[in-house]
Amino acid sequence: MKLHEYQSKQIFSKYGIPIPKGKVAATAQEAKLIAEELGSRVVIKSQVLVGGRGKAGGIMLAKTPEQAEEVASQIFAIEIKGLPVRKVLVDEAAKIDKEIYLGITNDRAARRPVMMASAAGGVDIEEVARNNPEQIIKVHIDPLLGLRDYQSRDIAAGIDLPRELWRMFGQIAASLWKVYIDCDATLAEINPLVITSDHQLLALDGKMVIDDNSLFRHPELAEMRDLDVEAPSEIEARKYGLSFIKLDGNIGCMVNGAGLAMTSMDIIKLFGGEPANFLDIGGGATADKVSAALRIILSDSNVKAVLFNIFGGITRGDEVARGILTALEEVKSDIPMVIRLVGTNAEEGRAILRNADMITAGTLVEAARKAVAVASGEQIR
Ligand code: GDP
Ligand code: MN
Repeated sequence: MKLHEYQSKQIFSKYGIPIPKGKVAATAQEAKLIAEELGSRVVIKSQVLVGGRGKAGGIMLAKTPEQAEEVASQIFAIEIKGLPVRKVLVDEAAKIDKEIYLGITNDRAARRPVMMASAAGGVDIEEVARNNPEQIIKVHIDPLLGLRDYQSRDIAAGIDLPRELWRMFGQIAASLWKVYIDCDATLAEINPLVITSDHQLLALDGKMVIDDNSLFRHPELAEMRDLDVEAPSEIEARKYGLSFIKLDGNIGCMVNGAGLAMTSMDIIKLFGGEPANFLDIGGGATADKVSAALRIILSDSNVKAVLFNIFGGITRGDEVARGILTALEEVKSDIPMVIRLVGTNAEEGRAILRNADMITAGTLVEAARKAVAVASGEQIR
């Protein structure tokens, strides 16, 4: 789950990282009032969950409250990389001497977190990473020991930070590490961390990605989720505890178990089809969960066939079958459906589905072949 800039910066601030004074506005009038309150030059920043807002016209400076209102209404009117702007952050404008990059993420290859920093911070860090990777300093962090003081000094030296800022930099790096760990983040990033004209460090931009699997123990973070920017089908899926990811193909998949779901998708592709989604209904799925899953799959107008691949263990075949029938009563679909149902109560499940006009298959290969065939309009029984 991605957090907005203003949310990330509020968290940073709680951990002692200096951020500009500012507030969020939902209208241009509000932006004007905030600018009046701040009584300084302000920067108006669109709060959308994509990078490169600056270049897309989503970040603008304003000298007066009137100008803040005008600029804000311009920003509210545009879309940034296809996303509508519903909120802007109105921050006291900073006088910038230099822009630095500082971030932490997981380095999967190294199997530990890595802190990265660059003196070439600002809007083009991806380009720096591509063309001048030597300008990015990387330090791996032992998750048990945490970030050591000498490591942040190494980073400060590596980016040629002026000596008098090392102490402050060390505190910011340590706080960012603490944020990263405490929030179960997979990314915590400040870009730019600026040196201001009065020689202070200030986090002008903030970005955090939280590990979805940890949200159960961070209710205060889970609440920050911005539903505006998510596909409605994914929101609905989360409500029922389904792992669902929408894809671009035309064969809807309902499978229990992530591994089996991946295998089913692979085999669909092997026979020339394209899955429309990844969906793991999980172990022990009940009829209402199955029915929600089918409704979600069928709400995608690209779907031309549905493949059920259910391996009954804890999940019971008759529960799944009942769920399918419930969903079909609600949605009334003439999309062809192929089902492979084996394991616990598979026989009972099949009996329930006997009158449901579904195409049955004994093996996964047979099921995938049939799904690919009917998705392309072939008639089979
Ligand atoms: P991003 O483009 O989405 O990464 O948004 P940022 O918040 O990083 O802003 C992009 C750029 O706008 C920064 O690198 C700065 O150059 C500039 N910027 C942001 N805030 C201020 C500010 O308060 N004063 C000035 N002068 N420039 C700013
Ligand atoms: Mn930025």
